[in-house]
Amino acid sequence: MAAKIVDVLVPIALDQAYSYRVPAGLTLEAGDVVAVPFGAKEYAGVVWGEGHPRPGLHNKLKDVIGRHDMPPLKPELRRFIDWVADYTLGARGMVLRMALRMGELGPARERVGVRLAGPAPKRMTPARARVMEALADGLLRAKSDAAHDAGVSVGVIDGLIDEGTLETQVLPQEPVAKAPDPDFLQPDLSPAQSKAADTLREMVTRGGFAASLVDGVTGSGKTEVYFEAVAENIRQRKQTLILMPEIALTAQFLERFSARFGVRPAEWHSQLSPRKRARTFAAVTAGEVSVIVGARSALFLPYADLGLIIVDEEHDAAYKQEDGVHYHARDMAVVRAHEAQIPIILASATPSVETEVNARRGRYTRLHLPERFGGQHMPHIEAIDMTREGPPRGRFIAPRLAEAVKIALERGEQALLFLNRRGYAPLTLCRSCGHRLDCPNCDAWLVDHRFKRRLVCHHCGFSKPIPESCPKCEAKDSFAAVGPGVERLQEEVAVLFPEARTIVLSSDLVESVERLREELDDVAEGRFDIIIGTQLVAKGHHFPKLNLVGIIDADLGLANGDPRAAERSFQLLHQVVGRAGREAGQGMGYLQTHQPEHPVMRALIAADRDAFYDTEIASRETTAYPPFGRLASLIVSGGDKHETESFARKVAAAAPLDDNVRVLGPAEAPLAVVRGRFRHRILVKSPKNFDLSHYLRGWLQNAPRTRGTLKLEVDIDPQSFL
Ligand code: ADP
Ligand code: ZN
Repeated sequence: MAAKIVDVLVPIALDQAYSYRVPAGLTLEAGDVVAVPFGAKEYAGVVWGEGHPRPGLHNKLKDVIGRHDMPPLKPELRRFIDWVADYTLGARGMVLRMALRMGELGPARERVGVRLAGPAPKRMTPARARVMEALADGLLRAKSDAAHDAGVSVGVIDGLIDEGTLETQVLPQEPVAKAPDPDFLQPDLSPAQSKAADTLREMVTRGGFAASLVDGVTGSGKTEVYFEAVAENIRQRKQTLILMPEIALTAQFLERFSARFGVRPAEWHSQLSPRKRARTFAAVTAGEVSVIVGARSALFLPYADLGLIIVDEEHDAAYKQEDGVHYHARDMAVVRAHEAQIPIILASATPSVETEVNARRGRYTRLHLPERFGGQHMPHIEAIDMTREGPPRGRFIAPRLAEAVKIALERGEQALLFLNRRGYAPLTLCRSCGHRLDCPNCDAWLVDHRFKRRLVCHHCGFSKPIPESCPKCEAKDSFAAVGPGVERLQEEVAVLFPEARTIVLSSDLVESVERLREELDDVAEGRFDIIIGTQLVAKGHHFPKLNLVGIIDADLGLANGDPRAAERSFQLLHQVVGRAGREAGQGMGYLQTHQPEHPVMRALIAADRDAFYDTEIASRETTAYPPFGRLASLIVSGGDKHETESFARKVAAAAPLDDNVRVLGPAEAPLAVVRGRFRHRILVKSPKNFDLSHYLRGWLQNAPRTRGTLKLEVDIDPQSFL
C-alpha cells in the first residue's frame, strides 16, 4: 500500500527529513524527487522514506505538491548521501544538494535552421547566389552556419527567408555527448600495460566492489591502461565516472579520450553554463551519457547505471572540499563504489600515504607500471646545496643551475624553473624602519605583484597600489622586496639569458581557461625557451622539448607545520621534475635546497620512492597520524577576538571525556586572522578503530551554540592545517 505520509529530505542546511501528506491520486516511493513547500518557498526534495502516522499532527502537515519528472534516486545513492552526512557531520540536506544539481531547465531554447526550399529570389545578388550555391544540397543548417558557409552576413539569409527561397525549421537538440566507441583505436600495449589492463578488464566484467591502484611513473601509460577498463565498461553499457583534480586544465586529456574512443566525453565542473549543466544532469540521470569526466562534485550525481569510477591523480589535494560539506572526494569515491558494488580505480605516480598503505596491505590491488612508455628514462636528479653553492646575495638561481639552463638553451631545448610562489616577492619591508606591509584583514604579508603594480593579500584578495612612502616612518622609496616570487625570478632570468624567450605561468596571471590552454600549447610547441611557473605547470602537461627542470626552493613546502608537509613536497617535486625528458633525451632535475639530507630530497635524488614511503609510513605509525589514527579539526571563527577565543575554549571544555581521544587546543590557527575573522583550531585525535564522527556529534550536541558572528566548522580528516 502506498504511503499516506512521506518523509522528504530538502536540499537545505538541515539534517532531518520532514513529513508531508501525499495527496490523493499521487503514489510515491522512496527516492522520488518531489516538489514540496518549505517555509515560504518551494523546493525539489527527495522522498527519504515512509513517514510515521502522526494522528495528532496529520492535519498540520503540508501536502506534497507533485512529483518531478525524473528517475528516482537509487537506494545506492541515498545510502551514500546518508553515509557522507554521518561521516563528515555535514547537514544531510546539504549533501543531497550536491546530488540534485539539476538547475532550472526551463523551456528548451529552440534553435532554428534553414534549408533551400523555394524558387530563386526575384532580385539576385552575388551574395544571394553564394547562399544558393552553398545550400544546394538541400540539407538543414543552423542559420549562422549557413551564413558562414556562404561567406555572407546573417542579414542575407534573413532576406532569403522573407523571399521564400529558404525555409526555416527547428533544429534537433544535439546530444550532450555522443556515444564513445570502445574499439575506435586500440593501442598496442606493452607487456606490463597489457597485464594491468587485463586485471582491470576482469574487475569490470566481474562487477562488484574492488579497488585497485594503477601505480606508475608519469608517462608509463596509466591513462592508456585505465582506458581499457573504460572500454570494457562501455561494452557492458554502464556509465563511467572519471574524476580529475583540475577539470579546467584537462584539454590534453579530452583530446586523448577522443583519440581513443572517437568522441569527447561529457564534462561536469563549475564552469559549465547553467543550460549545459541542466542538460548534462538530465542526460546523466537518463543514462544518455556513457562517460563523464568531472571535478569532485560529479561524484554525487544520480547516475542511471554507474559501473566504474576512476580517480586520476588520486593523491591530489584538490580532491578535498574545504567549505560547505568538508569531504575528500577520493575517499568518498571509494565509499560510493562500495555502496554501488562497482569497481574503482585510483591512479597516481605518487600515491597518497593512505592509498600506499592500503596497497601494501593488499586491500587495493596494485598494478605496477615500472617504466615510461617508449623506454624514456626518468630524469636524473641532483641537489644543489644552497648553504655551500648558492647564488650571490639577492639572486635566486645558483651558478650550477644557471649553467645547466645555458646548455639546454644551446641545445635548442626548454628549461622549466619552478617556484611555487605567485607575484614578485612574498614580503615587502621598509629599509629605514623595518616596517612590513601587511593585510588589514588578515594575519598575512601583502605580496608584491609588479605585473599588476599592486600589493595583494593571497588570503582575502585585498589589494592596493604600492605606496610611495612608508606608512610608518614616511621614508620615500624605501621599500625592499624580500624573497623571490615568479615575477622576480623572471627579472633574474632576463639578466642571465637576455636572448631567451620566457613565459611566466601563474594562476593569478591567467585571464581565462582558453588563454591558458593556448599558452600551454605554445609552450608544448616550443615557442618559449624558459618557462617560469608555479604549481600551475606541475601537472598533466606534456612538453616534448623540456629536458631540464630546476626547483628554485625545494624546501618551501616543508616549512609549515602541516603533518602532510613531507608527503606533499615529495609528490609535488616528483611531479614537477617528472615533466623533464618525456619525449627524447635525458631529463635532468636540480633541487635547490638547504637540506640535501632531508628524507624527501634523498628519496628524490636516489629515485627511491619506496624509501620515502617507508620513512613516512613509519613516522605516521609512531605518531598515530592518518592512516594509523584519525584526525578531525574544529575551526572556530568570529569577528571579535576575545569572544572567539573564549567561545573556542568553551567548545573545547565541552569535549566528553574518553580515553581514546586527545583534544589539542584551542590554539590560534597558523592563519590567525582571515578576512577580518579571528580563527582558533581544536585538533582531535583518536585511534583508527574509533568512531570519531559519532564522538564529535555527541560533543557538539552539548557544546555551546554559535551566535552572532561566531562560526564552528568541522573538518574530518583535515588536509589543511592553516
Ligand atoms: P601516465 O598517465 O602514466 O602519465 P600516459 O597514459 O599519459 O601515462 O602515457 C604517456 C604517453 O605515452 C602518452 O602520450 C601516451 O599516448 C603514450 N603511450 C603510453 N602507452 C602507450 C601505448 N601502449 N601505445 C602508444 N602510446 C602509448
Ligand atoms: Zn587579507
